[in-house]
Amino acid sequence: MMIVKMINCLFANFCILVTFLFFSGMLSKKFAVTGRSTSKLLSVGIGLLFGLFGMILMKYSFPVGQGSYANLRHLTIVIVSAYIGWVPAIICAAVLALSRVLFYGLMYSSVSASVSLLLIGLCCSWISTLRWSRMRMVMVGNLIGMGISFTTLATNLGNLETVMEFFPMQLGVTLAAGLAVYCVAEYIQRSNDLYTQLEVRAATDYLTNLNNLHQFHRHLDTEMARAERHGASLSLLVIDIDHFKNINDTYGHPAGDAVLKQLARRLCNHSRSYDIVSRNGGEEFTILLPDCPLQQAQKAGERIRAAVANDRFLLPSGKKVQLTVSIGAASYPENIQDADGDLLSQYADKALYAAKNSGRNKVCAADTYADG
Ligand code: GH3
Ligand code: MG
Ligand code: MG
Repeated sequence: MMIVKMINCLFANFCILVTFLFFSGMLSKKFAVTGRSTSKLLSVGIGLLFGLFGMILMKYSFPVGQGSYANLRHLTIVIVSAYIGWVPAIICAAVLALSRVLFYGLMYSSVSASVSLLLIGLCCSWISTLRWSRMRMVMVGNLIGMGISFTTLATNLGNLETVMEFFPMQLGVTLAAGLAVYCVAEYIQRSNDLYTQLEVRAATDYLTNLNNLHQFHRHLDTEMARAERHGASLSLLVIDIDHFKNINDTYGHPAGDAVLKQLARRLCNHSRSYDIVSRNGGEEFTILLPDCPLQQAQKAGERIRAAVANDRFLLPSGKKVQLTVSIGAASYPENIQDADGDLLSQYADKALYAAKNSGRNKVCAADTYADG
């Protein structure tokens, strides 16, 4: 009867733990938790959160002897060490050890249980530094946890026979629960990874790794709203390669792609760290320049134009070619009174058109022709 009750209790622990994992998965997506490369501050927060999860699991314990309880709280330490690292594992173990004494009083069984939790924390932290697969970390961490629990139980109860009445069943259920929890955690981790990859891909141009058109529009809206809020200026350069079709026609499409990639890198090199460089399509690029008035944007455009014209671009065949770009520049609030990103784009496009029509390899500012 006692065994059935213990299995029921451990099953309830497993269900609660899975709910916690689901909740943690949602949080890790929101706060972009990146496994082992998570920042130290975030790791501390995760350690405290998993400590709290373990404390709740403790409240759903099943008594297996004087002052001894069966539950899955140690799995919170095992999981957090395998997925995030040693910092949250130590913090989680410390929180659990402290709460064990606070919940159940300063008696011998509580102190020994606290010491065993700290030991599990240390072992799992060490395991998390090894180059093991996550499955191995979880399974070995769980086994070590059960080994330490067994020793504590045997010491607390002082009778190996009593421990052996329930421990084999507890071990079996806990190992099965560990494996199931690992599968759930792995599923959540993988779907979060896929979500992040999709987010990056949806915002990035596949060829140049710059922002794509969609992301450009998002940045334009954000920066325009920011400029309006702070009464700052925002400039836009639209950059188009001159006679790019000739490169494709003469040297082939892969040569054109190589040129686009190199130009993307050079545009980034010639921009400030907080400028936003995008490939808006084909051989057209843009640079958003926050806190940059029109005159300064024109100078930046001129620097880029000259740098491109003086550079050589390496083709896959080993041949080097020269090319030029035409650039249109427009600024808020010099060219447009309303903080409207689409309008700024239109003005910059018109300026680019003017640059193309007046001989190419030029920078034209919107106010050189604008009628508004
Ligand atoms: P202009 O000076 O008037 O801008 O002339 P252009 O030849 O640069 O412009 P046009 O619009 O006539 O041609 C653009 C060319 O860009 C045509 C298209 O094949 C090429 N292109 C667009 N996207 C890609 C790409 O991803 N890779 C390569 N290699 N070429 C591309
Ligand atoms: Mg072109
Ligand atoms: Mg074009």
